Amino acid sequence: MSRRVLNFGAGPAMLPDEVMSIAQSELMDWQGTGKSVMEIGHRTPDFISIAAEAEQTLRELMSIPDNYHVLFLAGGATLQYSVVPMNLLRGKTTADYLNTGIWSAKAMRIGSDYTAVNEVCSSAEAGYANIPEIDQWQLNPDAAYCLYTENETIGGVEFHFVPEVEPPLVCDMTSSFLSRPIDVSRYGLIFAGAQKNVGPAGLTLVIVDSALCGDVLPGTPDLLNYQLQADSDSMLNTPPTFNWYMAGLMFNWIKQQGGLEEIELRNQRKAEMLYQLIDESDFYQNHVHKNCRSRMNVIFHIEDVELTSRFLQEAESHHLHALKGHRLAGGLRASLYNAVPESGVKQLAEFMREFERTFG
Ligand code: PMP
Repeated sequence: MSRRVLNFGAGPAMLPDEVMSIAQSELMDWQGTGKSVMEIGHRTPDFISIAAEAEQTLRELMSIPDNYHVLFLAGGATLQYSVVPMNLLRGKTTADYLNTGIWSAKAMRIGSDYTAVNEVCSSAEAGYANIPEIDQWQLNPDAAYCLYTENETIGGVEFHFVPEVEPPLVCDMTSSFLSRPIDVSRYGLIFAGAQKNVGPAGLTLVIVDSALCGDVLPGTPDLLNYQLQADSDSMLNTPPTFNWYMAGLMFNWIKQQGGLEEIELRNQRKAEMLYQLIDESDFYQNHVHKNCRSRMNVIFHIEDVELTSRFLQEAESHHLHALKGHRLAGGLRASLYNAVPESGVKQLAEFMREFERTFG
């Protein structure tokens, strides 16, 4: 097999070797059919069983209550910034948004094409390095919904609590989906682009309370109508079939690892390893408040910009890849999604210590 590197990219992200190997072994001939999953119709019994099984496994993993629809859609998480107001305004004219980073700000800007937006709180002036104290939030109980981003992939800021709000809570969970157990019943709607913990880019998961569906803004295309998608098992048109299959393999893999409880423990240990190193060092810095540091995307900086490029070069030569920070943020970022093994994070930590000894 070809050499696979440790890939700390923020997404499309590393997938587990076990999952890639199954996909490889089944690529040309899925279960003796003589066809790839890519080559079978979405309405065939074979694909319908792949789709239903993936949904069932996800429902088990996350203990999703029966009154929630699980939708497998296309369009990415960004499209949901429009689809959410199209479906959830339901006659109301204002929605609450928590502004804790670049993705939250984008959700708000796109949302404002459809509704008045109430910015509940903002950490923009603080450089998106914290989550404003709850007693400063300006919640509107009449808002149609309240949207927040659980994990800011670029800023490395993560909510370690679920906001308590009256309107249905909508969560962009793109970069923290399946990283730990959650209580789905606290949310009206969860959405996530797949390309972090679910599989290849091209699929978007939506988990939505069925009571919120069915009353869309006039002019909403059928494909963007949650109720119509739920009624047709996400097959109003041809869904991203291969991605759906890959998601199913990923869900099985998580189950085999011991489920989300075990995944959470691993993710905590991985993040802790890097934050401890950063906190003990004067060479690496992370400016995010400790109570909201991301477990999925560890942001760090080296003061000397030239050393940052040297760091990236040396890291590559140690097979540690994609550690460059987002183009809007600069610096460095280690994304520690589920497929990144603890042993890989250990290697990164050893490399960082060695780099500091040499250049610090
Ligand atoms: N929200 C968050 C938190 C993200 O990290 C991303 C992608 N990195 C997006 C939304 C946008 O996702 P997509 O590219 O699937 O539209």
